[in-house]
Amino acid sequence: MARGSGKSREDGARFFAKLAGGLAEAGRSFYARGWVLGTSGNFSAVLRRKPLRLAISPSGADKGFLTSHAFLEIDDRARVLRGNGKPSAEALLHLAVVRARGAGAVLHTHSVWSTVLSEAFAAQGGLGITGFEMLKGLDGVTTHEHREWLPLLENWQDIPALAGELAATLARHPQAHGFLLRGHGLYTWGKDLAEARRHVEILEFLLEVLGRTRGMVRAPGGDS
Ligand SMILES: [Zn+2]
Repeated sequence: MARGSGKSREDGARFFAKLAGGLAEAGRSFYARGWVLGTSGNFSAVLRRKPLRLAISPSGADKGFLTSHAFLEIDDRARVLRGNGKPSAEALLHLAVVRARGAGAVLHTHSVWSTVLSEAFAAQGGLGITGFEMLKGLDGVTTHEHREWLPLLENWQDIPALAGELAATLARHPQAHGFLLRGHGLYTWGKDLAEARRHVEILEFLLEVLGRTRGMVRAPGGDS
């Protein structure tokens, strides 16, 4: 019995290190793309469902130098169970996404284009994307005619209230692969880290295309 629990602790530690290593690598790669400059953005993956445990990046970590050792294990109320440091206040949003979508990983970027477009489309409460081949990189999407609606939430600083609003928003938009926070950034997720990473790449690509296209349409006459 004791040996058994020792072994499962060891397996747990190994699994944590593996997930944290994958998340750290994703973070450094997003930093290189300019999507999580400075200490912006945060990344998590599910260690276990019952009881719910996440591996998550700590608050204040420079994303260009992120390593697996910096990561924390948190419980379903964002209390730290492993590691040194504080989880981001936004950990509650990660937990809300995991609960609503059954996601295995949740990734959050502060890119230029998600920031610009979340301001530009704030009045519409979201952003529709359709007609692009790259949409087929999103889980379950088989045609470029798919219309991806990214709901947009105000960037409330009261994160517990925002997490409640987010849960309601995700319930209203069961097909959405991500959401935007106004003037802040993009959240997306996947059934595992590989899928969540792919969704970041696809959505960041699509947001950049949309942003650049709007700029091109507007620039010549200055009167879209
Ligand atoms: Zn953020």
